[in-house]
Amino acid sequence: MPSPRSSRPLSLATLAIHGAREAHKPGDPVVEPLVQSVNHLQAFGTADGLKYTRYGNTPNALRLQKRLAMLDAAESALVLSSGMAATACALLALLRPGDHLLASKYIYGGTYRLLMEEFVGMGIQVQLVDPFEPRIWRKSIKKETRAIFIESPVNPTCRVLDLRPISFLTKNSGIALVVDSTFASPVNFRPIESGADVVIHSATKYLNGHHDVLAGVVCGSEPYIEEVLQKEMLWGQTPDPFACWLLERGLKTLDVRVRRSNASAMAIAEWASGQKLVTAVHYPGLPDHPDHKIAKETLDGFGGMLALELKGGGRAADRFLRRLKLVTHAPSLGGVDTLVSEPRFTSHAKMTAAERAKIGIPDGFLRFSIGLEQVDDLIADLEQALK
Ligand SMILES: *Cc1c(COP(=O)(O)O)cnc(C)c1O
Repeated sequence: MPSPRSSRPLSLATLAIHGAREAHKPGDPVVEPLVQSVNHLQAFGTADGLKYTRYGNTPNALRLQKRLAMLDAAESALVLSSGMAATACALLALLRPGDHLLASKYIYGGTYRLLMEEFVGMGIQVQLVDPFEPRIWRKSIKKETRAIFIESPVNPTCRVLDLRPISFLTKNSGIALVVDSTFASPVNFRPIESGADVVIHSATKYLNGHHDVLAGVVCGSEPYIEEVLQKEMLWGQTPDPFACWLLERGLKTLDVRVRRSNASAMAIAEWASGQKLVTAVHYPGLPDHPDHKIAKETLDGFGGMLALELKGGGRAADRFLRRLKLVTHAPSLGGVDTLVSEPRFTSHAKMTAAERAKIGIPDGFLRFSIGLEQVDDLIADLEQALK
């Protein structure tokens, strides 16, 4: 990385492009090369410096990891082969059979199954709680509790959790606070600055941002990331150098992409609030959102995710989706294309309509990931589909 003349720290937008870069000299390529080789020549008479892709120590992974740590204001970071690999290895490094994990019940479907099927099967006690219930964390901590796991912002309702009281508790009781902040990206939220110990991202989403790489990230202290690396090596969850190279390219535009999608999401939320056929708009940037104040205090931008509820429920949603021309009906999020999905057919398909309605996701609920198209074109598409 070029050394800045003043001591002013570099901003996230600049770090996303130059962070952890070696100083350039004449003749060097501007774009860092892809080193696809799995093995590397070894020095004689020593095991030091052994390089192998699965060990997470080949050139594209090393530079990317240093850069990702900078973006999340963390001591260290590790890149893994998916968001699920990140969650699995992050928690395997913290929990042993008999330990107790307290988790929010509003978590990604894959994470839910990992905890309730795999971890419970390994003898880890997992307890899911409603994170919006007052004092729930304090009430639920036991002497075996090793970690608290939360996701914020919450999928698909865009609720925002306040980390500050939770981290006050975890810091005082020696419990790790683990936060999946995939929905925010480090542009909108840096959980370590709010007291988290571990941050997880599905880099498949905003960090890469182009719908073409599957990857995950874990950020935390140096000794902890060393433990996660041991899990990554042994469970074989390391990404290929090309995935790292593509992710490094995606990162360079992270700041402009996220800020653009934030601005468009805000404009769409405001437009939708004035539509008679839209019965509810879920976006933390709106003053009437239940967590608007917390979002304003703890986030740096309100995000590119929003949800709408349509008058006429599931049938209206179905008609609306079939009429869309630009907005693409597909799962996942955080990329250049604007996507829409229905939780009743994706993340919440295993629940009944009544169960979904109880947690605020009635039929007719649509989740949007706002991409980088011109916002007037997006609103025009939504408007014609609503009519
Ligand atoms: C997508 C997602 C994951 C899983 O990431 P993959 O890259 O698909 O393995 C985990 N958490 C959240 C919040 C996600 O949106």
